[in-house]
Amino acid sequence: MSRKGLHLKLEELKTELAQVKGLEIAIGRIVEEEWAEPVGPTPFPSLASLRDWDLKLLKKYKPMYLPYCDVCCLCTMGKCDLSKGKLGACGLDMSKQQSRIVLLACCIGAATHTGHARHLVEHLIEKYGPDYPIDVGRTVGVEVEAPVTRLVCGVRPKTLGDLEDVLDYLETQIVHLLSSTHTGQEGDELDFESKVFHAGMIDQVGMEIADIAQISAFNLPRADPNAPLADIGLGTVDTSKPVILIIGHNVPPSVEIIDYLERNGLYDKVEVTGICCTAHDITRYESRAKIIGPISWQLRYVRSGVPDVIVVDEQCIRADILVEAQKIKAPVIASTEKNCLGLADRTNDPVEEIISDLAGGKTPGALILNPEKVGEVAVKTAFQVYPNRSKFKIIPEIDELIREARRCTRCNECRRACPNNLPIPEAVSDAATGNLTGLANLYEACIGCGRCESACPNHIRVHSFIVKGSERKIREEKYKVRVGRGPIQDVEIRNVGAPIVLGEIPGVVALVGCANYPEGGIEVAEIAEEFLKRRYIVVASGCSAMSIAAYKNEEGKTLYEAYPGTFEAGGLVNVGSCVSNSHIAGAAIKIANIFAKRNLRANYEEIADYIHNRVGAVGLAWGAITQKAASIASGFWRLGVPVIVGPHGSKYRRMLLGRRDHEEDWYVYDARTGKRVYAGPTPEHLFYAAETKEEAMVMMAKLCLRPNDTSKGRMIKLANYIDMHRKFYGVMPDDIPQYVRRESEIPVTMKDEIVKILKDSGWQEKPTPDPTLLPRLVGVKK
Ligand code: SF4
Ligand code: SF4
Ligand code: SF4
Repeated sequence: MSRKGLHLKLEELKTELAQVKGLEIAIGRIVEEEWAEPVGPTPFPSLASLRDWDLKLLKKYKPMYLPYCDVCCLCTMGKCDLSKGKLGACGLDMSKQQSRIVLLACCIGAATHTGHARHLVEHLIEKYGPDYPIDVGRTVGVEVEAPVTRLVCGVRPKTLGDLEDVLDYLETQIVHLLSSTHTGQEGDELDFESKVFHAGMIDQVGMEIADIAQISAFNLPRADPNAPLADIGLGTVDTSKPVILIIGHNVPPSVEIIDYLERNGLYDKVEVTGICCTAHDITRYESRAKIIGPISWQLRYVRSGVPDVIVVDEQCIRADILVEAQKIKAPVIASTEKNCLGLADRTNDPVEEIISDLAGGKTPGALILNPEKVGEVAVKTAFQVYPNRSKFKIIPEIDELIREARRCTRCNECRRACPNNLPIPEAVSDAATGNLTGLANLYEACIGCGRCESACPNHIRVHSFIVKGSERKIREEKYKVRVGRGPIQDVEIRNVGAPIVLGEIPGVVALVGCANYPEGGIEVAEIAEEFLKRRYIVVASGCSAMSIAAYKNEEGKTLYEAYPGTFEAGGLVNVGSCVSNSHIAGAAIKIANIFAKRNLRANYEEIADYIHNRVGAVGLAWGAITQKAASIASGFWRLGVPVIVGPHGSKYRRMLLGRRDHEEDWYVYDARTGKRVYAGPTPEHLFYAAETKEEAMVMMAKLCLRPNDTSKGRMIKLANYIDMHRKFYGVMPDDIPQYVRRESEIPVTMKDEIVKILKDSGWQEKPTPDPTLLPRLVGVKK
């Protein structure tokens, strides 16, 4: 029985897709409304409903485990040494342990987005009522407004209240998934992997629920390719005004801050600035708000002494934010139960009393669990703290820096601790002589983690030194980002569906995930530009969307100013914050539904099969990724979309790699004839770690190849892949014969060279199937 008191019992359900008997599910009130589309075979799938599909993918893309540590200490029967084939006390081996840890990470990610969605939806229902309509772009013709939810659950939420029913399902699944990781539960690594995929799919629904709720209720851009440009960068902040900094992902307290300022005619007297995804969402709400930067900008911005008040909500907030804030005497307001920071709960205290305590320094911060009150307290406190601010900047002056740098013994501890292995000792030694160039040179690649300082036995403030050495660069950090537009319009899908599926648009590349890049954010922007120039569709979200903005081309324009925000060839689409990632999967799903007219409702396998075989999409998470980013990646895997990660990504313990030398792995059914046909290693991998941005780009181009490409499409995709390979490696790739199926697919400008390669390899023409991995689709005319 659902908590809405509604219960659906289907004795027998017959659709053109499947026959389901004895299905009994409590799916709330939303299933009752009229919807012409028949329910597909897997409404509200449980842990094993899509296992067959997962195992098909995992047969092609076998997990390759890369243990990050040899022991398991998850229960007190251990710790158990799992090295060299040894089993733990519960019988678990290393492979199962690795896949279990991936599942745990993805459960954390899915729970985080779903918890975020639950919190947000409850807040919005309290404020606007359960019947408030979902509208993510009705006026621009967005009719398939929740494609992931429709696909997974088979329901079409119309109101905020409907979203609660979906959340009930998601939460149940997360509990079951998490329970599978208990000692003595799942005992097979591929079944762990299947559950990883399930967690990723659940995560995609959770993200979609969160974003469609906030778009609808807060009137964020609704599928708008011309969403306004907003300021981004440390240099954009007007320090002559009180400054509020907001960090996190869940926007209601920030909305209340902006509303309070608007109601009182104060907006132009205060700077509202943000870090991480709340920053995206405040600019979606009010484009005059400013984004400072991604997650890794926290330390440098706080230490600059610029923020007068820091408001934190949830996710990706430094655990030492209170300590850092105290150094500059900026009060902290914690605004969710998930991150109380040890602060006293002041939710029910009088506003003036809280402000007096915060501004007077009586208390370092306050926990306020009422977003409206957060809005008023944050603004009034900022006005009171502001006059004293300059006294508390903690970036050292030059004399102080030189004195402190002289304490350096070049012990190298900082460099050993640095995740990017930066040449810190040399830079600090130079600084001791007054030369700050070395410090300035570290700025781009420094991810602001502060580990160098923690490691330094002489308590040298290395990160603050880097910020000091980079003052000029920081002042010049003034860029523009197109604010998150939300979903892709149905009409955009109609326009690009055919060229994507036929391969004439060479691919859709999605730049997602967190910002702790190996060589700094510039690499993400360079990757984006390379693919934009080649007329791929480039989609971005979260920290990656910010990093793309922090780069200007030869004309002094950011990529958001130089390229359109439309979902089209050569378009740069910022969908928005982390939860807006769901629109990237949503776009692929909508191609299958709107362009190819595949049924969407609870028809997961068929849609994933379509995307995997026909939609040339690939994701890239270039930075070190959080658990949320892990679950985002696994959601793409279940849809059959490959994901590439940067060098840090291998720490997620396993890759999902295809073996192009295993010919038997690359057969598909030809849906026209039912014959099994060799389709080539396309896409070659499902999860791949690249060491350099060049390797990542070449692999991205290659992973856009699909069995369904037409000859012209394959030619265009191969031209890009081969051209990038030659550009970055200086040679032709050695696998061309595996990807050319007929001579008409040979890129014209390289014809002679490739014909020779084909001849030398004994190449033979291959068929182009109507590909599917699902035998039940054979002979089904579409
Ligand atoms: S879960 Fe298994 S492998 Fe891990 S510590 Fe416990 S007994 Fe050992
Ligand atoms: S850890 Fe400290 S003392 Fe050692 S090299 Fe680095 S800055 Fe110098
Ligand atoms: S703060 Fe920067 S320099 Fe220090 S350890 Fe982190 S990345 Fe390296």
